[in-house]
Amino acid sequence: MDKDFNKADWEFFVVALKEEARDVLWSVQLDVDPDTLIKSALEDLQSLAPRPEGIESRSRDEIWKQVRERLLTAAYALRPHCIRCGTCCEKGSPTLLKQDDELFITGVLTPSDVFTIRSGEQVYLPDSDQSVPSENEFIKIKESRDGKTCIFLEASDKSCRIYGSRPEQCRRQECWNPKQAVSQSDGFLTREDLLKGTGDLWLIIQKHEQRCSHNDFTREVARLSATKGQTVDDLLGILAFDHHVRDFVSKDLSIDESFLDFFFGRPLSETLKYYGLRLDQGDDGTYVLTTDGHDAER
Ligand code: SF4
Ligand code: SF4
Repeated sequence: MDKDFNKADWEFFVVALKEEARDVLWSVQLDVDPDTLIKSALEDLQSLAPRPEGIESRSRDEIWKQVRERLLTAAYALRPHCIRCGTCCEKGSPTLLKQDDELFITGVLTPSDVFTIRSGEQVYLPDSDQSVPSENEFIKIKESRDGKTCIFLEASDKSCRIYGSRPEQCRRQECWNPKQAVSQSDGFLTREDLLKGTGDLWLIIQKHEQRCSHNDFTREVARLSATKGQTVDDLLGILAFDHHVRDFVSKDLSIDESFLDFFFGRPLSETLKYYGLRLDQGDDGTYVLTTDGHDAER
């Protein structure tokens, strides 16, 4: 420790550290004494001690963030198994892997339980607090409208309603071992895997992808800005086709509306927010593209 780190600082640090340890223990539902946790992480924590002035580049907040991370790692090391607390189910739903196709065959999952993230679609990464375009297509279980909670999590007792048949990612989930996370090399399930044999429906999905790909959509948004709104009709054309296909499939083919986000991904109009845009319907029924905080562009 720094020689300027006086007794009062030290006493405050010890109290704050115990508080942090208590909070970490509560968050992982581990019933041990905070001192036991701190002791198990001591070597790691000592390496975080503030460096002398002029050398230290971390702020106090950054140091405390590192302290919490070390305590969390140590807490998980003391509890390396799943206690079915449901916390990971509240942070996001699973992405389906190839082997999860069985769940549709056996009826555990239906088309209304899932949605598609199409290639090129903007996805939010909570770790970096950023939205980036997805490199691949993948299918996820739907999440509650008010957050990121998986729809199969029972609110009353945080149990999983399909636990015995839960998707592969949930089986592999180990909050104490983040390296277990699934990746592209595990083989994500796609619409083609599930819907290629559906005849006309698959043809419509392919046509929709050709006319409304996220890559084309993003390019049109960029062009709209470069042309100062002159190309708005091209962007509205893509939005209209996306809307038309969904309408046609649900009304003319009598397909349940709850299946549409699986067949065609989320409506493009809902992804406009990632570009600072919004689609409103005018009094005369025509659609108006609005930039956040600015007047409408037609
Ligand atoms: S894997 Fe998920 S359910 Fe299991 S203990 Fe960790 S956060 Fe809880
Ligand atoms: S399917 Fe079950 S285990 Fe998997 S995230 Fe949803 S509630 Fe949790």
